[in-house]
Amino acid sequence: MLIGVLCLQGAFIEHIHMLESLGATAEEIRQKKDLGRPFDGIIIPGGESTVIGKLLRELDMMEDLRAAVSGGLPVFGTCAGLILLAKDIVNDDRRYLGTMDITARRNAYGRQLGSFATVSPFDGVGDVPMTFIRAPYIESVGEGVQALSVVDGKIVAARQDNQLVTAFHPELTDDTRIHKYFLDMITAHKSKV
Ligand code: GLN
Repeated sequence: MLIGVLCLQGAFIEHIHMLESLGATAEEIRQKKDLGRPFDGIIIPGGESTVIGKLLRELDMMEDLRAAVSGGLPVFGTCAGLILLAKDIVNDDRRYLGTMDITARRNAYGRQLGSFATVSPFDGVGDVPMTFIRAPYIESVGEGVQALSVVDGKIVAARQDNQLVTAFHPELTDDTRIHKYFLDMITAHKSKV
């Protein structure tokens, strides 16, 4: 399985290592032409959504990436990746890919709780360790979006068809089950097309 990892800024190396540990092939996406590769899925890492978003525009990659995701290419966005995929962001006027019918809140945990770790249930997976770093959460989801994990009453993971997002960073733990969940999502998608 060939997974493209958006490597413009942020925590992308950890995703590559995790994918490789699961037997997938991970390739870096650094410029527009890389988006033409025959990926089975794409990961948008955590980092700063404003920086990644700006680079996507400057490198003329935004439209191609949006078209790929809208066309059904499986995508997994973590943290800033969640913000980039969100159709709406309550506390930011910027919009990026906007392919997923969720409303996100940036830096939602305030300064005190900027970063924290917990272990919480994830639908269909079980209890997983979750690392939050200046994380967003999902304020609301549209029809057709399934909330996969709720922590302290806030949605921190969701799925809409081939789009998966987590507010936390599964790649910063040694638990590979969320990445496995994404790869299983791709396998199920491939068997349908
Ligand atoms: N605070 C970042 C943002 O708004 C997200 C943080 C992260 O990806 N760990 O984009």
